[in-house]
Amino acid sequence: MKRIAVLTSGGDAPGMNAAIRAVVRSGIAKGWEVFGVEHGFAGLIAGKLNPLGPRDVGSIMQRGGTVLGSARCPEFKTEEGRLAAIHQMSAAGVEALVVIGGNGSQRGSHSLVRMDFPVVGVASTIDNDLYGSDVTIGVDTALNVALEAIDRLKVTASSHQRAMLVEVMGRGSGYLALMAGITGGAEAVVIPECPTEPERVAAEIRRAYERGKPHAIVVVAEGANPNAQGLAQYVAEHHAQLGFELRVTILGYTQRGAPPTFADRMLATRLGVAATEQLAAGNPGVLVGVVKGEVVATPLDEVVSGKKPIDPRLMEVARVLAR
Ligand code: ADP
Repeated sequence: MKRIAVLTSGGDAPGMNAAIRAVVRSGIAKGWEVFGVEHGFAGLIAGKLNPLGPRDVGSIMQRGGTVLGSARCPEFKTEEGRLAAIHQMSAAGVEALVVIGGNGSQRGSHSLVRMDFPVVGVASTIDNDLYGSDVTIGVDTALNVALEAIDRLKVTASSHQRAMLVEVMGRGSGYLALMAGITGGAEAVVIPECPTEPERVAAEIRRAYERGKPHAIVVVAEGANPNAQGLAQYVAEHHAQLGFELRVTILGYTQRGAPPTFADRMLATRLGVAATEQLAAGNPGVLVGVVKGEVVATPLDEVVSGKKPIDPRLMEVARVLAR
């Protein structure tokens, strides 16, 4: 009988639990034993592997976060760390691993594969910056949380004639900010991929006022330079008269903890099942993701070297529609 393990790693994402459930139950349906690893690669090194039955993953799908726990584990970047992890899996009789996580985590998967340990990655990050999947687990939920907040901020901003700088997650990726900006009807979007002069943001806010808008919403990715606080400081120092009074709201971790939407549950379920199918087909060393609506397995070699750029046409859409 085959024995596999599953872990969640890096930033938690709503839908990870649905992916765990799908891996566990589809693995068991194949006649395998499935072990859950606590706290990502750190738990793997520490040998924290526990057998999971179908009942152990009951009623977890609707919960945000990850029941297995996640971690950032610098030790896994060293060969000794990975050798310790492989040793622990061998000692537990585990022959293959499923890694649910984002860019960093799939680099970890890739480095295990290069040491000849079979791994399948499941594309999961709220940043949507992972090559090999058009959309990743957690993005839809995180976007809906950001949108709900933007909608509310717009209401109060309009009541007081204010400009709101709304900072959303995304250290290296502006995907969440751009999408939330377009669908939240923002007056401006500031993302790390598109350097924007603070003066231009100030000009957009003034233009919104002059056009007679009751508010101005600026969605800023946390990794933009300057970020929302930096922009507010610039405006305070250089523009006494923008029309609107300025306020900053940082959504931060609230975007992570929500119950997963239908889209995230379904995506996570499809990808979790696909992960065990790839292992059953003897095809490890891949990431399962969705490309043009279809579940696709992309070699981890390609995933770690590939880039997923922002579509510049969407920046233009955000700009054109903000009139
Ligand atoms: P995410 O998967 O959300 O992008 P991180 O970038 O924090 O999260 O990565 C999660 C973990 O993956 C790291 O703490 C580390 O254990 C592992 N990892 C990241 N990069 C590498 C690498 N180059 N080699 C091996 N392991 C890595």
